[in-house]
Amino acid sequence: MLSFPQYRGNLSYRCLSCGQEYPSSNLYYTCPECKGVFLLVDHNFSSLTQKSGSEWQEIFDNRARSKRKAFRGIFRYYELMAPILEEEDIVYLGEGHTPIVEASEKLSRYVGQPLAYKNDGQNPSASFKDRGMACAFSYLNYLVRKHGYKKILTICASTGDTSAAAAMYAAYVSESIRSVVLLPKGKVTPQQLAQPLGSGALVLELPGVFDDCMKVVEYLADNYQVALLNSKNAWRILGQESYGFEIAQWYDWDLANKAVFVPIGNAGNITAVINSFLKLYKLQIISTLPKIIGVQSEHADPVFKYYSQPKDKRRYSPVKVKPSVAQAAMIGNPVSFPRVKGLVEEYENLGGTFYVVQVKEQEIIEGMLLANRHGHISCTQGGECLAGLIRAKEKGLLDKRELAILDATAHMLKFVGFQQMYFENSFPPEYGITPKEELINWPKEVLSEEEKSQLDFQDFVQKAGEAIVQTLGIEKNEE
Ligand SMILES: *Cc1c(COP(=O)(O)O)cnc(C)c1O
Ligand SMILES: [Zn+2]
Repeated sequence: MLSFPQYRGNLSYRCLSCGQEYPSSNLYYTCPECKGVFLLVDHNFSSLTQKSGSEWQEIFDNRARSKRKAFRGIFRYYELMAPILEEEDIVYLGEGHTPIVEASEKLSRYVGQPLAYKNDGQNPSASFKDRGMACAFSYLNYLVRKHGYKKILTICASTGDTSAAAAMYAAYVSESIRSVVLLPKGKVTPQQLAQPLGSGALVLELPGVFDDCMKVVEYLADNYQVALLNSKNAWRILGQESYGFEIAQWYDWDLANKAVFVPIGNAGNITAVINSFLKLYKLQIISTLPKIIGVQSEHADPVFKYYSQPKDKRRYSPVKVKPSVAQAAMIGNPVSFPRVKGLVEEYENLGGTFYVVQVKEQEIIEGMLLANRHGHISCTQGGECLAGLIRAKEKGLLDKRELAILDATAHMLKFVGFQQMYFENSFPPEYGITPKEELINWPKEVLSEEEKSQLDFQDFVQKAGEAIVQTLGIEKNEE
């Protein structure tokens, strides 16, 4: 069996506002000085260049064949991930290494571009949030071990995928870690409530909306010993970088002629994707930076607005969001914007290309329906990526041969409510969505309850059979 890596990093939290650094041996959420957001930086990173790019490729490829638990998930890329952990700290619940599925001939032809989906909804709690949580909880294990903490309380405010992932990992790890989820009462769907409840998390409800819960959670983090698991938490960003590493490895470390599409909400995911390719490039594990294209709905588009201004005049302002079917990305003031801004500058300076495109609500939901009608399992945010690909083509941002890799950030089953509203034509007017007849799909009743009640069983079978034959126009068996 392959041995566990010897390399240890020298990781610090670096504040992106004031530049102050703090040791990674302690838990920080935001900068104690200025409340700025952190990125984790490894001061030993440049020593990794002692190995060549192809040596690193071989190391990661060998680990891909290993059955050692620590290499099965996101920590296959240990040296680029959180190289302060010991093997015993690492939590693995089946996250990462999600399949990249090439679109069918028919869909590629329709869109006019080669494309593939990376199905991050095939993570254990059915969204990419598991990548970040696997890293955050492995780090919490490290803290428990290192400091001998008896109890760590984790808390997050979320109505959806973050709380589902946090509750699942908390249910698995040591008894010293307990997880609490804070939700706005009556503002979450039964599905969104079901996952943390099923994982046995303590679910607390407050009157108000998500932002009210967020403020309460931050108050707790500022004044008490609690670990906050919202995406300001820099360990989550680190874990999410595995998404980009996996794309590179799948394509044998060759990212020429590839464009990676990512929906932007709180901007944690796109931060991680940009940083992942930067790390690989700096170690010469990849020799080309792929094109990165962020996608936002016109109902929640502060990052698009920022990048659509001329380079020397860009000013960032939060927007007031309107309801969006890309609900997991419906954020007007993304906490990770300062991270994106810095990393994009670096990406462009190294010759990489970054764009943000804007799409309409109608295009997002129809993007999802179109993908799923061609065999994918895309959520609305994945639909947003497909809509973004079509927009990017219209704007001439893609070369005809370039492969578009779209992020289906969650499983479609988490977002079926929107499909239902489309099929029923029941969207509230604020969404601005008018269903197209040809995309609506609804069960057709073959026989009514009343018709059935008047038939004995034999007649029912025959009558129902004949009704189906008529609907489908099937040929009878010759014999
Ligand atoms: C959280 C989430 C997003 C948005 O990601 P950010 O990191 O907030 O930009 C998109 N899709 C799904 C399914 C999510 O759960
Ligand atoms: Zn600071």
